[in-house]
This record gives sequence, structure tokens and C-alpha cells, in this order.
Amino acid sequence: MRTVLTASRLLTPDHVVEHPIVVIEDGVIATIASRPHSELPAGQHVELLDATLIPALFDVHIHGSGGHDVMEATDSALNHIGAFLARHGVGAYCATTVTAPLDSLLHSLSGLAKLMDAPLDGARPVGIHLEGPFLSPHKRGAHAESQLLAPSVDLFDRMWQASEGNILVMTIAPELPGAEETIVQATKLGVRVSLGHSDADAAAARRGVLAGAVTATHTFNAMRRFDHRDAGLIGEVLTNDNLFAEIICDSLHVDPTIVRLFWKAKGPERALLITDAMAGTGMPDGTYQLGELEVRVKNGRAIIGEDTLAGSTLTLDRAVRNFAEFTGAGFTATVPLATRNPARMAGLDSEIGILAPGRSADIAVLSAKHEVIETFLRGEPQMAPSTQGFFSG
Ligand SMILES: [Zn+2]
Repeated sequence: MRTVLTASRLLTPDHVVEHPIVVIEDGVIATIASRPHSELPAGQHVELLDATLIPALFDVHIHGSGGHDVMEATDSALNHIGAFLARHGVGAYCATTVTAPLDSLLHSLSGLAKLMDAPLDGARPVGIHLEGPFLSPHKRGAHAESQLLAPSVDLFDRMWQASEGNILVMTIAPELPGAEETIVQATKLGVRVSLGHSDADAAAARRGVLAGAVTATHTFNAMRRFDHRDAGLIGEVLTNDNLFAEIICDSLHVDPTIVRLFWKAKGPERALLITDAMAGTGMPDGTYQLGELEVRVKNGRAIIGEDTLAGSTLTLDRAVRNFAEFTGAGFTATVPLATRNPARMAGLDSEIGILAPGRSADIAVLSAKHEVIETFLRGEPQMAPSTQGFFSG
């Protein structure tokens, strides 16, 4: 089947195409052309007036949404999460675990492994982000202290086996004894190691990078405080041009001024937008699970204990709008931070995060205000009923 999309603008995101004509055949992008230069080919025409087309977004750090947590590791939970994410323009994500008793963690990893290639609704999990148990007790955030474990190659290998090789990203505190060997081993297996939940000083952070780390987990949150005499992990993240770095751009986790500092330091090639979203995202105030933890959500804040942030209720489309606004970078410059950059960090940029012929037709359709009005995944519209009036072709 052939579908022809026309719109106002398309961001590949490396190039801008005005008045694009996108031809989709059997779920794959066949061609991308510009209207003034090309005739409209035959096929089912979907005219997306005033819309901007961008690659479907990719979230490398997300725990859940729409009432469900990825550690439930059932097709029903991932279908709910995937459908919710698709409504927010997301096409792919890393199912992110939290620290849990080892048996439950292994159980979740093997459950998720079985679902990686399953036919699921909406956004698809493309790997697992193992966040914990190799975290610093001093910067554990919401992670349960009693379940944190010292990093070791043996323990990592057990998790790797349980995940059937599906761990794509691993957060680790580089200053912990055993961390360097574990980073080396994970890197050897193709895991993208992310430094975070860490009390590392600058030297320990550098050792983590030399061992193989390529990115940093929610920069500023759950890291040793930045001090001009003790730059710590944050100093390394902000000054090492090779490191990617995540940020949660919801104005609760990081002040907008710090987001501007982050943008100046990390720039258009290395900054990554993530949500760190948990089950309460897109849901009313109440109590939700984060792994095995009970988290209260009130007015968009996900809290555990007295006042510790436990994930967010951010959606990635909103993160893009927030970042563009907070930094003044503009929308076009921000889109790669949630598409191309995470795909490059994860080593998946030959498959996702960029619109080009031969790629899966995973396309978010945005209004003039950059709200998601439709998402095509594998060429199929994900939210058609509410946007039927929008289709004129
Ligand atoms: Zn997280």
C-alpha cells in the first residue's frame, strides 16, 4: 500500500524540507521530495495542512506512563505505555528499570527480553536501560538504599544473561569499587554506559569515561553538587565534548537557567532530552508504582518520602517545547536532541531518529504550536479517530 503525506515542513532533522511530499510504501519511507519540484505521486493522499513532520521521538530514559511501569514486563503494560507514548510523538524508547531486590530485577529483565521483538501497540522498546543497582548510596534519589549493590562483572553478567543481551544503556556510579571493570565489560558487550546517581569527584568521573562511559544520566540530578573547587562528575560532563548527556527539561528537576548552561556546554551534537517519566504520567494525582516503590503524584510532581523526586510526569514532546523555550535555541535546533542524538548515542542511528528513504515511516506530525496531532509508526496513524477531520485525502 502506498500513502502520500504532504505538509508544510519536514525536519529530517539534519535538513529542513519545505512543502514536503513523503511517499510511504508498506510502512517504509520510499521518497522525500519537495512540492514545487515534484508532482504528487499516486496513492492515498494525506494532506497535513500547516503541519511539521519530524522523526518520531526516542526516549532513552523512561520508566512508565499511562498508569503502568516497564518492570511489570507484561505485554499489556507495554501496550498501555506504547500507546500513550505514541500519542506524544514517541516511536521508540529504552524500557528503564529501577533498583529492586535482585530476584525481581532479574525477573523483570527476562520478562522485558521476551517482549523486545513482540508485536506491541504504539512506541516500541528498542532496549533496556538498567538504572540501578550500581548506584551511589549518597546520590540514590528514589532508589532503595538496601537494594543497591556493589558493581561486579559477575553480577552484571547475570543481568545481561537475564536480559538476553537487551541491556542497551546502563547507569553506574564510577567511583564505586568494581565500577571500572564493570564498565569495561559492559562496553565490550555494546552497552552504552551512562555515569550517574554518583558522588564522583572529577578524577573518578574521568576514570569512568576512560573505562568506556559515553553518556551521563539526568545531568545535575543525583550527582555530587558542582563546586568551583570540586568540579566532580558535573564538571566532567559539561567540559568533555565526547560525552552525551541527558537532561530532564520539566522546570522541576533543573532550573531553566541551568538548562541554558547545559545547552551552552553540550551543544547540538551531544545534548539528549529524556523524560525519566513514571507510571503516573498522563494520569490523575494519586499513588503509582515505580518498580516496587510507591510514588505519590501531586500537581505533576512524583514524590517519594518527604520530598524526593521519583521520576517525572514529563512527556518528551513537552520536553522539546520546554527546551526550545528555556534556551531560546528554537524548535528546529531542539528536535535532534530527542531524535538523532539519542539514536546516535544508542548506536541506532542507522534505524531510527532520522527521516530518510529506506527507513521505517516513524513520523510525528506537529501543529504550528508544535503539539503532536498525529504519529505514524511503520506508516500507520496511531491516533486517527480524534484527528479524522484533519485528513483531507
Ligand atoms: Zn530514572
